[in-house]
Amino acid sequence: MSTPEMLHPELLAPDDTHGILRDGHRLDHAEGASKPLRSRPEPQPRGAKVHGSRPIDQAEAAARFIDAAEHEKMHDERLWDLRQKRDREMHGIAEWEELRSLASAIKEHTLTRLDRYLEQFEANAQSNGINVHWARDAAEHNRLIHGILSDHGAKSLIKSKSMLTEECGFRPYMASVGIDVIETDLGERIQQLDNEDPSHIVVPAVHKLRTDVAEVFAKKIGTDPANSDVHYLAEAQRDATRPLILKADAGMTGCNFAVAETGTFVVCTNEGNADLSANVPKLHIASIGIEKIIPRLEHLAVFVRLLSRSALGSPVTQYTSHFRGPRAGGEMHIVLVDNGRSERLGVEEFWTSLKCIRCGACMNTCPVYRRSGGLSYGATYSGPIGLIIDPTFNQRKYSNLPFASTLNGSCTNVCPVKINIHEQIYAWRRVLVERHETPLAKRAEMKVAGELLSRPAAYRAAVAAADVALAHLPRFVIYNGLNAWGRHRDVPHPPKQTFHSWYQANRGGKQ
Ligand code: SF4
Repeated sequence: MSTPEMLHPELLAPDDTHGILRDGHRLDHAEGASKPLRSRPEPQPRGAKVHGSRPIDQAEAAARFIDAAEHEKMHDERLWDLRQKRDREMHGIAEWEELRSLASAIKEHTLTRLDRYLEQFEANAQSNGINVHWARDAAEHNRLIHGILSDHGAKSLIKSKSMLTEECGFRPYMASVGIDVIETDLGERIQQLDNEDPSHIVVPAVHKLRTDVAEVFAKKIGTDPANSDVHYLAEAQRDATRPLILKADAGMTGCNFAVAETGTFVVCTNEGNADLSANVPKLHIASIGIEKIIPRLEHLAVFVRLLSRSALGSPVTQYTSHFRGPRAGGEMHIVLVDNGRSERLGVEEFWTSLKCIRCGACMNTCPVYRRSGGLSYGATYSGPIGLIIDPTFNQRKYSNLPFASTLNGSCTNVCPVKINIHEQIYAWRRVLVERHETPLAKRAEMKVAGELLSRPAAYRAAVAAADVALAHLPRFVIYNGLNAWGRHRDVPHPPKQTFHSWYQANRGGKQ
């Protein structure tokens, strides 16, 4: 009889004799990062405090992240490194801008004919032997999958990373109905064991130092808390998770692209974990957001060339797996999920956010995100893309998020599908102010500013008074615990002369 190892040689134990060897040693996955840290580790800053639908105080959580100097430095450097790698890859492709335009055009074409392509995808997937379901919202998605699992008597589910399932609160729901969900992506598994959401859509645990991971693993899988060697930690995790994978009743994946003309879908990973989730158990369920559709297989090449380069600065993901139908003797289900997407599609200013291919490039380049960590947003999606998606789920709760941006436009410049991200962030600010979804203090400040700016004489008098006041005010008036502005900034010295008075003196009356 064949053993699981014979059926799945990729699952062999890390200390087996079949490992990839060079000069008698196992290959290192992260050269130079394997020496255990000796100094006392800095505690990991936690994310935003979430209280129901009360507005998330992103600035407060960001300030705590910035105060954790080691975390802030590591996070900033790691993400900037990804941005630089992305730039190097981009410069290696002469037709990069044409690819971006083409990707944007394909997405816009598809989104404006989404009903037609979804029906084509459904029909072709069904003819491939796949069961296709539709979920209007997160609750229906969770119920549907619970129903499929119950029909099969499944009690455990291995799953690869999927932001859609995060959006649907899938894991907490499954826990409430007694189904054990095991994440197979390493970063996502770290976050699951630490009871945290992913902080980045591509690298979920990027905000953690390896000492943080050592602490989590020590508590949850019994590793040595003093050992933060990355090989030790990764292999301990493999040892702990592999038996769970082998005996799981069902497997689940997300989807990067669903092809209407073939009824197939594609999942891109670097760890091969989606292939484990899809192929080890006989039952495979895939959650697919309806915006993931592309019309034809030939369009896939455009997105595959852009995705990994934009995300991690690598030419391609290690695994680009195509799923066409159930494996022999198995069963495959697809759940096509709306959860607010068709409503967003009807909003003129924000519908193009549905073009997003979840590469994370806008996060890697954003100066606010890099220094505040993804968990400070208190939402499924963080960084620039989060600022324009999250308020579509709950305007009050995420009303502060569109203000967590410098509007420098770097996100828009790197976006592989040319979403005008910074313009949409700006548009959200206007919408939220018009709908009175901003804090009372901010509204009062804006009212005063509006009054001043609409009266030139009053504005000039206020500027002159502020210059005098700034020169003579005691420091504690600006730099105190109550004034968030003064916490990380120095007030510039007021100029001796304002531009207006200079202009009057030197160019007065001239055009
Ligand atoms: S908005 Fe653009 S850059 Fe940001 S994750 Fe989506 S596709 Fe990538």
